[in-house]
Amino acid sequence: MIKDAIHSDIVVIGGGIMGASISYYCAKAGLDVTVLEKNELASGTSSRCDGNILAIDKDPGFDSQMSLESQKLVHELQHELDIPFEYRRLGSILVCENDHEMEAAQKWVDQQQDAGLDFNMLDRQDLRDESPYLADDLYGGLACNTDSTVNPYMLTYSLFNQAKKLGVNIYEHTEVLNIHKKEDEAFKLETSRGLFTAKKVVNACGVWAPVIGNMVGIDIPIYPRKGQLIVASREQPVGLRKVMEFGYLISKFGGERQVDAMTEKYGVALVFEPTQSQNFLIGSSREFTGYDTTVNHIVNQYIASRAIRFYPNMGDMQMIRSYAGLRPWTEDHLPVISHVDEVPGFYVAAGHEGDGISLAAITGKVVEEMISGKETTIPIDPLRYDRFKESVVQP
Ligand SMILES: Cc1cc2nc3c(=O)[nH]c(=O)nc-3n(C[C@H](O)[C@H](O)[C@H](O)COP(=O)(O)OP(=O)(O)OC[C@H]3O[C@@H](n4cnc5c(N)ncnc54)[C@H](O)[C@@H]3O)c2cc1C
Repeated sequence: MIKDAIHSDIVVIGGGIMGASISYYCAKAGLDVTVLEKNELASGTSSRCDGNILAIDKDPGFDSQMSLESQKLVHELQHELDIPFEYRRLGSILVCENDHEMEAAQKWVDQQQDAGLDFNMLDRQDLRDESPYLADDLYGGLACNTDSTVNPYMLTYSLFNQAKKLGVNIYEHTEVLNIHKKEDEAFKLETSRGLFTAKKVVNACGVWAPVIGNMVGIDIPIYPRKGQLIVASREQPVGLRKVMEFGYLISKFGGERQVDAMTEKYGVALVFEPTQSQNFLIGSSREFTGYDTTVNHIVNQYIASRAIRFYPNMGDMQMIRSYAGLRPWTEDHLPVISHVDEVPGFYVAAGHEGDGISLAAITGKVVEEMISGKETTIPIDPLRYDRFKESVVQP
């Protein structure tokens, strides 16, 4: 137990990739930061996910511009951080199963190109050149050439490592149990290891952000959306870059797809990610089943058969393990990166759903800019906490 209260200007609650990025960018700007994590660093969703830094699946407009800014920052981070995090910028592709998807893909590419992003269409031959393992009957697809991949927990550790070198204090196994704030006084954070005080508090607790919100009397409409992945071992070099089915976009945004009822029920769509060591992460599913992270082997069967539909020879590969994580979902698929006006000094940086690895860098930078009173790199209005006040949709 800590004897006397520990004070810092800023307390960041949450040791996931958001907490890592926020503490790194704040420390880089010379701010005094303490991080509180109830378990170990990267023990939440940030170690139960893929590692894609994608613009390919972002709504053209604000969403994709925000991702592009984050991609640029991650590119710089490879030179700023001492510990490498398996960064590779190879681009990523979406593959189409029919004419209807090809038409939708062409529209998607046109919109992204108009917004200045590096997208292009792919035909059947391009897919054959991409990988001889892709199914012959695929029509084509599209590519986003700025997309990259990282090892998500290595990036989290690497950011924390650098933050620590810049003076950030990190307390693991320190659960925030309650928060008190009287006007004009510092925040008082009761934790499982004693009292911490701070002028400003950042809630970076992913799917647990609403629990922290309740401690200061606010409702944060973020809900856990479970996703499962299979890890297969390298046997042949199936492909070098990330491949998704076009239907993944439809699944992500809740549209109707032409798949069997169980694939639809579990929200299964192909996501294929070769890791640096050339094992393969194969996913994924999307379900609202509360905070349960137990692997459901029936869901794995649907993930595997979806993978075999796109890569017929994958059926011969060995599975190493499987895991599930909880995406912090919001109704408009955008995160909350915001000051909370009714609790001065309290900030939320959570709700990144399936994009938290992609958006961590820009989130950290913007939170630092908000705290320091600087002009923000991207507009923050679409990310405001109070945008849900009028209508809150539950999943
Ligand atoms: C299957 C799957 C695949 C994904 N693939 C991708 C991808 O390819 N690209 C991408 O961009 N995103 C992806 N994501 C999404 C991404 O993983 C998340 O958006 C991101 O990890 C969220 O990070 P976070 O820091 O907000 O949350 P977390 O990593 O969950 O961190 C929150 C932390 O807060 C801590 N905490 C909670 N309560 C307290 C408390 N009271 N006191 C102290 N600490 C507390 C938790 O222990 C946890 O460590 C995927 C997610 C899943 C599930």
